[in-house]
Amino acid sequence: MPKDMPGNRYDILFQPMRIGPKTAKNRFYQVPHCNGGGYRDPSAVVEMRRTKAEGGWGVIFTEQTEIHPTSEITPFIEQHLWDDRDIPALARMAEAMKSHGALAGIQLAYSGINGPNLYSREVPLAVSGGPILTFTSDPVQARTMDREDIRDLRRWFRNAFRRSQQAGFDLICLYGAHGFGILQHFLSRATNQRSDEYGGSLENRARFLREIVEDAREQTRGEVALSLRLSLHEGGAFGFSNAELRDFIEMHGDLPDIWDLANGTWEACSGTSRFKPEGAQEELVAGIKALTPKPVVGVGRFTSPDAMVRQIRAGILDFIGAARPSIADPFLPKKIEEGRIEDIRECIGCNICVSGDMTQGISRCTQNTAFMEEWRKGWHPERMHPKGASDSVLIVGAGPAGLEAAHILAKRGYAVTLADAADKMGGRVLREAALPGLSAWKRVADYRLGQLAPLPNAQLFPASRMTPEDILGFGADHVCIATGSHWRRDAVARLHLHPIPTDAAMPVFTPDDLMAGLVPQGRVTLYDDDHFYIGSVLAELLVARGCEVDYVTPAVKVAEWADNTLEQATIQRRLMELGVTLHLSKAPEAVGADGVTLGCTWTGRQSRIAADAVLMVTARRPDDALYHATRALDWQGAGIKSLKLIGDAAAPAPIAWATYAGRRYAEELDQPDRGDALSFRREIAGLLDLPALTPRD
Ligand code: ADP
Ligand code: SF4
Repeated sequence: MPKDMPGNRYDILFQPMRIGPKTAKNRFYQVPHCNGGGYRDPSAVVEMRRTKAEGGWGVIFTEQTEIHPTSEITPFIEQHLWDDRDIPALARMAEAMKSHGALAGIQLAYSGINGPNLYSREVPLAVSGGPILTFTSDPVQARTMDREDIRDLRRWFRNAFRRSQQAGFDLICLYGAHGFGILQHFLSRATNQRSDEYGGSLENRARFLREIVEDAREQTRGEVALSLRLSLHEGGAFGFSNAELRDFIEMHGDLPDIWDLANGTWEACSGTSRFKPEGAQEELVAGIKALTPKPVVGVGRFTSPDAMVRQIRAGILDFIGAARPSIADPFLPKKIEEGRIEDIRECIGCNICVSGDMTQGISRCTQNTAFMEEWRKGWHPERMHPKGASDSVLIVGAGPAGLEAAHILAKRGYAVTLADAADKMGGRVLREAALPGLSAWKRVADYRLGQLAPLPNAQLFPASRMTPEDILGFGADHVCIATGSHWRRDAVARLHLHPIPTDAAMPVFTPDDLMAGLVPQGRVTLYDDDHFYIGSVLAELLVARGCEVDYVTPAVKVAEWADNTLEQATIQRRLMELGVTLHLSKAPEAVGADGVTLGCTWTGRQSRIAADAVLMVTARRPDDALYHATRALDWQGAGIKSLKLIGDAAAPAPIAWATYAGRRYAEELDQPDRGDALSFRREIAGLLDLPALTPRD
């Protein structure tokens, strides 16, 4: 029954909705998403999903779950369902998902042409053989499946359906989208070049999918709901285009219990806010609902309840799909239901969460510092440890680190004072948010300032530059210094570990200068040895201000770390389209009065480019002088119990590292000293008591 909440214009989002044999309690649908933990960190993933259940999601999915060792995507860490021994961990996940009335979903994947099998060492099987299509260009080819292989694959899927049901899942997602799943490889003429009954016409290319759906219904006796996750549009001459997808859905409208539609590649689907606005997939999905009697779920980094309601009322979507918004705020549905819109912790679209998967670390979130720390550290997105023995904390610096520390400490119940030299609080996120494409960064400050505002135990002092004497005289129990960092001007970063010769006649700028409003003139050499987003953002800014830009980097491509946030290709394309001249695998060796001498990073061969100004996007220096000067005084004699340095002022890093540092400081205050013990829990694989295999076995 729809919730009877008169006056809540978001009621429609809380209508129960049928998905085949199951009913979701509302329209909030956490689509499958990776987390960098997967099978390595089962309990961490379980508790992460449990917070989503608690936060009110109607449907919650696992990440991609590999159904058979003949297709696995090592080094990426997802889930396995290779034999019955994988069931208990997934059963625990299903139980956590269902703990507050959500439907539990499992995403089943067979990667085909996308799985290099680096761990299982099995020969990869694909719809049509050829080199494995990973972006890591693994030097491995897949074999074309014959009819027997297809029969095997159907059986492996059946096993996975049985195991999924046994683990307690309500929904099974058949993964095709993003170029990652074999179901779509069959559908797409780009990856299906078969001439048998599984290739050729759309009817033929859909055959395997029809068989799999039939097998799933039979295996689960129709008790498990089926979702089919396909790409909204695959580019290229032979790709499964949006038009073909519509033909397919028109022909097979009844096939799954729900259509889960997500744009093209993962890069195209999970664009950062720099390149993709909220609801960016609307045009591709609009009208599809009319082609099928089954519900449609789509994504679009939805954080605004009004945008969600509009999608439903306009008949574009039935369910609001979300991965990143559910990471940034697992309590998004609950907050909307309770009308606490101002408490929503909006995703900023930075894709740092994605980088956790890409680097096989463990995902973190710039906004939700508790993400993937729910089990490891006992952190929660909404609740904090209760206050400890001491009473007051002075935090100097209101960037992401200081703001996060202040807001968590204030919620724990401490008397918090937050002082910042600047007129406006927010530190680097305010400065960076004014740059092209980065306006969403401001949400980091907005959310925390919004949370602090009503708390009577939090005092904010902007325009207050603190000295060591001010700190000692303040009288707080604890002092936390979060004074940030500044960009270097001397070319020192990764390649140059010492300054390079520089003629004083050449104007040399740093990102801080540009963010402060200074603008170089004429032809500018931009040296990027940072490799993340800021270099390319500033190149865009310079072009917009009429400069001619030579972009110099020792890397083989622009912004190479942005591969981890799925942005690199888009960034490089944009700079090329803007007319920026790229000097790849090069670095400045000397800065002259009217130009820069470049060296090739491979051969050392020198070249020279003319320049009117140089912009160094290199390393940052921690602004830790206040900390050290305070430490040099008798701070303990002044009654201060602890003096700590956090965030960029300790070690510069992306914003997510600073919010994490703020959370950690705030959570650990007044906690017992852990000594040399690990600061987080980890799961260690149990040893099997089996005899070693010998050649004779
Ligand atoms: P982080 O990313 O670690 O949070 P930021 O650079 O974003 O670091 O923020 C640091 C903040 O510290 C800035 O807003 C800056 O104005 C402030 N700050 C630096 N030195 C002082 C000082 N002596 N007194 C008060 N605030 C300071
Ligand atoms: Fe959103 Fe960034 Fe958090 Fe990912 S890391 S959920 S993109 S705020």
